[in-house]
Amino acid sequence: TTLSISLTACSSTRGDDDASGKSEEGSNPGGLVGVSMPTKSLERWNRDGAHLKENLESDGYNVSLQYADNKVEQQISQIQNMINEDPDVLVVASIDGSALGPVLDQAKAQGITVFAYDRLILDTESVDYYATFDNYQVGQLQGQYIESTLGLDEGEEGPFNFEPFSGSPDDNNARFFFEGAWDVLQPYIESGVLEVPSGKDPKSVDDWQSIGIQAWMAPAAQSEMETRLNSFYQDKKVDAVLAPNDALALGISQALESDGYGEDDWPVLTGQDADQSSVQNIIAGKQTMTVWKDTRALGDQVAKMVDQIIRGDEVEVNDTESYDNGEIVVPSYLLTPIVITEDNVESELVDSGFYSAEDLGL
Ligand code: BGC
Repeated sequence: TTLSISLTACSSTRGDDDASGKSEEGSNPGGLVGVSMPTKSLERWNRDGAHLKENLESDGYNVSLQYADNKVEQQISQIQNMINEDPDVLVVASIDGSALGPVLDQAKAQGITVFAYDRLILDTESVDYYATFDNYQVGQLQGQYIESTLGLDEGEEGPFNFEPFSGSPDDNNARFFFEGAWDVLQPYIESGVLEVPSGKDPKSVDDWQSIGIQAWMAPAAQSEMETRLNSFYQDKKVDAVLAPNDALALGISQALESDGYGEDDWPVLTGQDADQSSVQNIIAGKQTMTVWKDTRALGDQVAKMVDQIIRGDEVEVNDTESYDNGEIVVPSYLLTPIVITEDNVESELVDSGFYSAEDLGL
């Protein structure tokens, strides 16, 4: 895989403390922050971890950063080890949002502030803050992109052949992504403008997990797409595929390619994360869009909130109602995601320094 992350990609968007708008008063209190990330195998988490660490360290904190190889037990024991080091704050991007209650109860009992990073931690009172990109909006942008590219909002009646996918069943974000997209697209399925030849459209949005791809694995998405194409598309062409992230889009594009799809009949194919290989695919016409969540902006925001927590300042949140984790509504900060197509790869991703032109073969 193309996991070569350039240094430019991880550089800070924040030149100095002024730009972050955070408190300048008093000397830095110092302290330890534990950061637990789900896996190194997906490009974004490498960026997230590196950027957050760099950011916190430049604020004068010590950082213990661990990756858990997508294994829940491994993440739990890593968190346990961090708790033993007695950090001030624990920042966790969970693998399974519902599996961390007991270990985080220990953190709370020890007075450690628990911060959910990107993915909400579920079914526990032992989580204090959450920061993420607006996950519902990510799905909505994917749905709206399919809607407008097929011209559905302008009265095109199709019918169009459409295949939906959803993310990992244990990832709470995946539900939001799917809901956002489904609220846009489901009415077109109901009216018959979108048809799903495979029958893999959940009859209710609550059944989103039925089409979920475990652990967001690209090869699993590829083989699922191959199965759908082989079984239901002998005499048809697929017009649009809802892929919730770039890993899945990559697997799906490989299935399309080996099935003979090309420049003339490539379907609308969504994604998320602006992974390097997916952006290259967008340039090559093998993926139509991605939803970019600038990991630098998330890292900057989380570092700022962690700093506020440790200083005992008021912690900046902008949403106190959307993220009910089953026990409590977690005060959250939501950032805004951006749609990337071939038209704005350069202006958004290159001009902002997220990638160099060279990274993308431009
Ligand atoms: C993140 C996505 C990512 C996916 C797979 C989600 O929770 O929000 O950005 O693509 O996990 O790692």
